[in-house]
Amino acid sequence: MKEITASVITVGTEILFGLILDTNSQFISNALTGIGVRVVLKSSVGDERKKILEMLKYASTKSTLVLITGGLGPTNDDITKKCLSEFFDSPLQMNPGALEEVSAYFAKRGIPLTEINRKQAEMPQLARMITNEMGTAPGMWLEKNGRVFISMPGVPHEMHHMLMTRVIPDIRGKYQTPVIQHKLIMTAGIGESWLAERISGWEKNLPGHISLAYLPGYGQVKLRLTGTSDDAGALQAELNEISNDLGKIIPEYIYGADGLTLEERIGQILTVRQENISLAESCTGGYIGHLLTTVPGSSRYFTGGLIAYHNDIKTGQLAVSEVTLLKYGAVSEETVREMAAGCRKLFNTHYAIATSGIAGPSGGSPEKPVGTIWMAVADESGTVTRKIIIPKDRINTIRYASVASLILFWQRISQKTGTAT
Ligand code: ATP
Ligand code: MG
Repeated sequence: MKEITASVITVGTEILFGLILDTNSQFISNALTGIGVRVVLKSSVGDERKKILEMLKYASTKSTLVLITGGLGPTNDDITKKCLSEFFDSPLQMNPGALEEVSAYFAKRGIPLTEINRKQAEMPQLARMITNEMGTAPGMWLEKNGRVFISMPGVPHEMHHMLMTRVIPDIRGKYQTPVIQHKLIMTAGIGESWLAERISGWEKNLPGHISLAYLPGYGQVKLRLTGTSDDAGALQAELNEISNDLGKIIPEYIYGADGLTLEERIGQILTVRQENISLAESCTGGYIGHLLTTVPGSSRYFTGGLIAYHNDIKTGQLAVSEVTLLKYGAVSEETVREMAAGCRKLFNTHYAIATSGIAGPSGGSPEKPVGTIWMAVADESGTVTRKIIIPKDRINTIRYASVASLILFWQRISQKTGTAT
């Protein structure tokens, strides 16, 4: 099956200024990938005749389809239509179908049609109009020398509707496209390069039509398998089999699939076991609680937390001993151990997580540099601890430490970490 390629061009000087984020191209790329069209180019250009023409020409050398958004409005700054007319050497003329739709749009709202609005119904002679049910600027479908150019409005919700209800079905009708499918494998607790090393044999054996991407995040790496085939069912089975094979190689690092978050996974485990958790957060300042409570239904297993920032709270509420604090300091294994145990008692939960660290930018010392984080997980059989050093800015240290604590917890409840003492 012949591969169909596409370029996505977003027009708008405001994108280049950084005044708006180009979300249109992401939406379009995603929709095209979903129907087996391979996006080979994405680019943004300003509302400038010369630049738009250059880009149209360039894109036409790169792909069969060229999808364009923006610059269709009736004002002088919107020139995409003029550029397409020039590029196709096809003069602008009133499109009767488009005029009818623009008129109907205004009539429905009881607004008189101005000359400027009438102009929205003008399009290059060889363009086919694409109905815009959400706004006044119709889209356009133009073909020349086996290349198809599709021009859509810049306003995201107008474009989304036009793309999904008109453009995508028309592309599917015109071309036979292969299926492209993704499968995400969610890992935690192993860095990208170590992971790559561990799974290199499996990666080498991937068939030619399936590719692998590493998508690293905080303490987590998503592995994305992307496959292309003519047979959707067979491809899905193949992707499942390949990810199952991986599950046998690194079972201790895989927590789920297809976009599941670690906090969701933790929620699933605790819900099934009918167990609960509480938190004693010092350096993470409540961020772990925030992560856990983003999951709907977390009230079933998340009892509550204490932001034990000041030492008085650590001693007064969590029963951390003054001697421990004096001898080892607040950022120490001994302190988080007592915090976690004290928290578990205070909230009367099956588990408790505790954190204490130096989020920075000041407060570090040679023995305990900024970014030193101690975390602990307590359960009925004891407490496990871990130290990490995160050389990041304050907010990223807090985020990273929170995720690292959840990883330690997940490893603990899935019996993937050492014996508690
Ligand atoms: P209009 O008829 O409203 O003028 P248009 O087709 O001319 O529509 P633009 O003027 O380029 O489109 O953009 C209209 C608005 O849509 C912009 O102000 C911006 O908020 C949004 N927009 C445009 N392009 C993008 C894009 N690539 N990603 C996200 N939003 C966009
Ligand atoms: Mg505009």
